[in-house]
Amino acid sequence: MEEIKLSFSQINMYKRCPAQYKYRYIDGIKIPPKSQSILGTGVHTGLEYGFREKRINGGDDTKIKNIMKDKTVETIEIAVQTEQIDWEEGDDVNVLKDDGVKMIETYYSEVGKKIKPESVEQEFKLTLNSELVLVGKIDLITKKRFIDYKTGGQKPQDDYILFDDQTKIYSSVLNLPGHIHWIIRYKKKDPQIFIQKREVSKEEIEQTLRDVMIIARMIQQNLFYRRNDIRICGWCGYRNLCYKEGGKNG
Ligand code: SF4
Repeated sequence: MEEIKLSFSQINMYKRCPAQYKYRYIDGIKIPPKSQSILGTGVHTGLEYGFREKRINGGDDTKIKNIMKDKTVETIEIAVQTEQIDWEEGDDVNVLKDDGVKMIETYYSEVGKKIKPESVEQEFKLTLNSELVLVGKIDLITKKRFIDYKTGGQKPQDDYILFDDQTKIYSSVLNLPGHIHWIIRYKKKDPQIFIQKREVSKEEIEQTLRDVMIIARMIQQNLFYRRNDIRICGWCGYRNLCYKEGGKNG
């Protein structure tokens, strides 16, 4: 069979709904991102630039924080000018920029200033067999851990990290414990940071790799069923298209 390259966002989309995966990655249909997602990309890019500067040239916390804030604002502005966006209630470009700056301020003051980055946005590639390669980028690596940032609009579930395949696989490759740093934006109060950590057992890694291989095999065999589950379809951007093509969820 043909070699297939999969990222964790692709794997997660297939697990959420195989039909959604097909629309996005086989048919190439993109849906406008939600404003919350534009904010998340802005904050992520701001952290990347700031921590890279810290690693390469150093500098005081004010300088690093300002780089992060400026890059966050710039990334949001460019996205708003160049992309069609699915705006959520109460959001506009100024709200996103203000919230992005607040998220950086809170994260850097509470957590980021103590971090000593060894590597930023390191490419990840794991060849599982002649047909399957896992690819990705690791947000940040220090001497003792790797960190994956996530943004969101509500407090994460306490056990989220137990179900996160990406953390398990990166742990196995880097031989380091994984941390997820959540930067949560609330529309009516200040942002909050949540940190989740875990060590992963060999058995869990093996099981996760087996599951990933099963998903890859299903993709190679063009098995794309519809989830037809209101908890997922209710906010799926492909819902209208899916309904026209025979889904039960329009
Ligand atoms: S509407 Fe539901 S079944 Fe259809 S693609 Fe979206 S999540 Fe899948």
